[in-house]
Amino acid sequence: MNQADPYENVLRLLSGQPAPARKDQTVALVIPPSPQIPTPGREFLITGPFEGLTSIATVVRKLGYGLKVVDCRPAGNERAAHVLAELKGADIIGLAAYCDSFAFLEEMTAGIKQAYPGVTLFLGGPLVTSLPQLLLEKTSADCALLGEAELTLIEFLEAALGKRGGDLSAVKGMALKTPSGVKLTAPRPQIQNLDSLPFPDYTVWPNYRDIVKNGQVIISTTRGCPCACTFCYKTIPSLRTKSLGRFADEVAYLKRTTGFDYAWLNDLTFNADPKRALGAADILCRSGVKYHVFARVTGMTDEFAAGLKRTGCLGIWFGIESYDQGVLDRNRKNTTIAAINRAVEISARAGLQARGLFIVGLPGETEDSLKKMYDYIKTGDFIPLVKYLVPFPGTAVYEDAVKTGRIKDAEEFLRKLSVRRAGDFDDEIVNMTGLDEALIRGYFHDIWELTRKKEPA
Ligand code: SF4
Repeated sequence: MNQADPYENVLRLLSGQPAPARKDQTVALVIPPSPQIPTPGREFLITGPFEGLTSIATVVRKLGYGLKVVDCRPAGNERAAHVLAELKGADIIGLAAYCDSFAFLEEMTAGIKQAYPGVTLFLGGPLVTSLPQLLLEKTSADCALLGEAELTLIEFLEAALGKRGGDLSAVKGMALKTPSGVKLTAPRPQIQNLDSLPFPDYTVWPNYRDIVKNGQVIISTTRGCPCACTFCYKTIPSLRTKSLGRFADEVAYLKRTTGFDYAWLNDLTFNADPKRALGAADILCRSGVKYHVFARVTGMTDEFAAGLKRTGCLGIWFGIESYDQGVLDRNRKNTTIAAINRAVEISARAGLQARGLFIVGLPGETEDSLKKMYDYIKTGDFIPLVKYLVPFPGTAVYEDAVKTGRIKDAEEFLRKLSVRRAGDFDDEIVNMTGLDEALIRGYFHDIWELTRKKEPA
């Protein structure tokens, strides 16, 4: 194992201590609005307290800085006048950069710079991690925290607000706007031990009372995923796990601070280690918490499915993507049709509600593969959810789309992502197949109708 970053030790020490006396400097964090249409019944995945933002804001609090979280997702909160008023007095301002944030970031960073010219503006999140150059060139932000940001944030705030007089060049894991262009600093290693993270502090959210009232949180027992699917928008690549002892303590802490009784488990692949996963499920069960999980179809067993059911799992979401082996292989999904069938059957036998996620238009898609998808969705024992392929920046399909000229203007593409209503019936398509767009749309519409019929009332 590589040596841990020295800031991991700082993070671990912070986690075990109360926050120091409040410094007279304030960090503001802004969450952009989103045009996405939520999955029915899962609205809070878009409107709820994002796990990543909660973690970053918790670290700011633990360091003792004043904190202001400006959540622009509720209608009306995205207005520039509102955001600027909320940010008054902040010494440093960070904006989250998600796949659909570009247009907001362009406009809002310019507005903030004009209103508060002396304040350092930083970006963080998956979009800027995927395209740091473009995001810093095209917005008015000064710098960005790339990838998993907790460790970088500590050093960054120390440098920006502390004794280093604002020199960020030695801070690992950053992109900096300089007079000679955008420069990347040395890369920041990932956190090796997730137990170093402080417990998520939900009081950082302006709507903390609503979170308590709803009793729903988004948490995880792992970060990352061992796989490398061509279309997957994940910017924290390698898999790490929290110890079960730590997870139990975190659940107990969240019970005390939020009284939650439902968790969306954000683990990308909950069943990466089934034995450990069942240990985590037992912890939730003992705390009276119901939950949903994402899992891979590979490695599903009757024992695992029965364990989930017994511990209060309300549903298991499988990224099936396609029902054609050629498409799965071409996109490095590393699953088989047999494994898909088996996982769905096992879930049904255990009485678990399975949801199958599909993507229309993956590279290698043919009319035959679309027909297979339609037929399987029609008869399969699961609730389907279908979307068009989106070549998200940072993915292999995005690189391919740029290389082959299917995305000609990256900036324009990001603007489109900022307004597209993901999950919409007539969403935009970047056609990565050799098929006619009309044919893809025709199948998509038919499959969409099927999904609506199978959606529980
Ligand atoms: S699609 Fe799922 S399995 Fe593939 S890389 Fe992403 S999280 Fe991992």
